[in-house]
Amino acid sequence: MTIAKALVLEGPRRLVPRSLSIPAVGEDTALLRIEACGLCGTDHEQFTGAMGSGFAFVPGHEAVGIIEEIGPVAESRWGVTIGDRVAVEVFQSCRECEHCRQGEYRRCQVHGIGDMYGFIPVGKEPGLWGGYSTHLFLSRDAMLHRVPDGVDPVLATLFNPLGAGIRWGCTLPGTARGDVVAIFGPGIRGLCSVVAVHQAGASFVMVTGYGPGDAGRLEVARTLGADLAVDVAEEDPAAALAGATGRLADVVVNVTAKAPSAFGQAIQTVRPGGTVVMAGTSGAVGTPGLVPDMIAFKEVRVLGALGVDAPAYAEALRVIASGRYPFGDLPRRIATLETLEQLLTNMAGEGSVPPPVHGVLVP
Ligand SMILES: [Zn+2]
Ligand SMILES: [Zn+2]
Repeated sequence: MTIAKALVLEGPRRLVPRSLSIPAVGEDTALLRIEACGLCGTDHEQFTGAMGSGFAFVPGHEAVGIIEEIGPVAESRWGVTIGDRVAVEVFQSCRECEHCRQGEYRRCQVHGIGDMYGFIPVGKEPGLWGGYSTHLFLSRDAMLHRVPDGVDPVLATLFNPLGAGIRWGCTLPGTARGDVVAIFGPGIRGLCSVVAVHQAGASFVMVTGYGPGDAGRLEVARTLGADLAVDVAEEDPAAALAGATGRLADVVVNVTAKAPSAFGQAIQTVRPGGTVVMAGTSGAVGTPGLVPDMIAFKEVRVLGALGVDAPAYAEALRVIASGRYPFGDLPRRIATLETLEQLLTNMAGEGSVPPPVHGVLVP
């Protein structure tokens, strides 16, 4: 039996190297050799314990790798074979329940939100359920995307945040060519949302950050298609947008982290009849500055968005492969299994250097 090298998160800040047995592949399962796993806010929140998780488990939910072994049934279901490079979605889908058949597999009645890659207890066989590992077990219900030829696996991990940017910034709000869009938050999801709405033909894109710590990210946003970058510690975003364009936003996408005022500012920044997307989880508690009546007066559409779906991920991989955006130049830090803990600490904002825009594990 072969052995995978993995990091198991046994409790807050207890990331422990462990050898896990690689299971035999069945008719309808497969084994992935992980080449790269993207890291996001969820990763450092799991690591520090800021996000309450069911320990112990192998984290990592943005995996890209090569199919090393695959059963014949899985081969025909996924349309991939040994040697193919694929990206693995965080959610699993039974493909049969009512929600899965409607394409709402984030609410799959078999798996649902507790049963995601990067969150599943290591005690559940075969334990290889996360990207912090040399190998990932692909269950019958895993959702895969073929990575276009020639795309570097490290860049391919952007399928996850860019898929989010496409669904949250474009598909869900119905962003149309010529729209004025404001993206709140310059993290990797915010920057990918800039790309997504630029690609969708937005006529003007504003992105916001907070304080000097975000200055570098706002610079990056400009290279990805943002027309205006605003530091909300210095400037009111609604006034800044109106000053630059003479109007308010058709669409506001809020992807801030721990910014309680963002919701109120988003309602101020959107035009009457426009759309505000509250996307991902931000850890913000309370909504200072929100005037609820403003939602009624302006007849704002407020949409919640948690996950991403297969069409958005597929489109994300096409955009990455197009070479149109300088994803290779993003300020990026790459860690190995041995150095990952340092990178996660840094991404949690505890290091002596600012967190990178894009963190990636290459096991
Ligand atoms: Zn993530
Ligand atoms: Zn289902």
